[in-house]
Amino acid sequence: MDDDVREKYLKAGKIGSMARELGRELVVEGASFREVADSIEFKIEQQGGKVAFPVNIAVDNIAAHFTPTSVDTQVFKKGMLAKIDVGAHVDGYIADSTFTKEVGTNRWHELIKASTEALEAAIDVTKPGIRAKEIGGAVERTIEAYGYTPITNLTGHSLRRYNLHAGLSIPNIMDGSDDIVKEGDAIAIEPFATNGAGRVAGRKSGNIYRMMRKRDTDDPQLNELIGKIYDEFRGLPFSERWVARQVKKPKPVLRKLFRSGIVTTYPVLLEIEKGMVSQAEHTIIVTEKGCEVTTR
Ligand code: MN
Ligand code: MN
Repeated sequence: MDDDVREKYLKAGKIGSMARELGRELVVEGASFREVADSIEFKIEQQGGKVAFPVNIAVDNIAAHFTPTSVDTQVFKKGMLAKIDVGAHVDGYIADSTFTKEVGTNRWHELIKASTEALEAAIDVTKPGIRAKEIGGAVERTIEAYGYTPITNLTGHSLRRYNLHAGLSIPNIMDGSDDIVKEGDAIAIEPFATNGAGRVAGRKSGNIYRMMRKRDTDDPQLNELIGKIYDEFRGLPFSERWVARQVKKPKPVLRKLFRSGIVTTYPVLLEIEKGMVSQAEHTIIVTEKGCEVTTR
């Protein structure tokens, strides 16, 4: 990896972790989802980074891919198990990290520990030449030692410039793949632990968007927005909250973009037995002898 690329990953990591830690302070009983997401994203921009994907707020049995809209009215309630997933980038080089926090109670302490310890175990074993499934094995053993189940159909992933899922998957179990981790790879490792079945399924509607192809429509105003989305996100995910800052009526505009195949949405992912879900995540760069965590 080039020095200047590494510098950008490290800078994004620092920005992402500071924004994430702000989020940890803001997630308290009564705080609104929208304000938490907006504040974290604002913090990223304030520090000279860009938002790599909308802040994901996934509570309880929701595992991932929910972000509040501009009209969301939800607040954090006592006892909620909140996963806050934060993405920042510098010039396309992404930092992806997550914390889980229980709001005002201490019921899920061990479930949270299962995923954070699994992440540390994964970081400990990661070095050039290791198979991705061996990292998954470390995650699986750690989570199972706590009496919980890893989520098998969610994985970590390699990162490339403006590319959040660059090909290599890091499973949360010892699966059947033989992919090998190489020096210079940038990877997000993200163990999920649950007291449910250990699988997620998508709910049709999603409010995180991604532009699939940049193409003009018969509506010049819409085309202006399409250009803006492309320039701002370059294929990375974006939120309705962002669109609501550009146009007066975001809903019909997004519906039109969706129907014309220009944007797609990510379905919200729920644990199939409605199990509670915890998640921990860091971004790492694989170095000569091990790895360097960018998002500490
Ligand atoms: Mn993430
Ligand atoms: Mn990730």
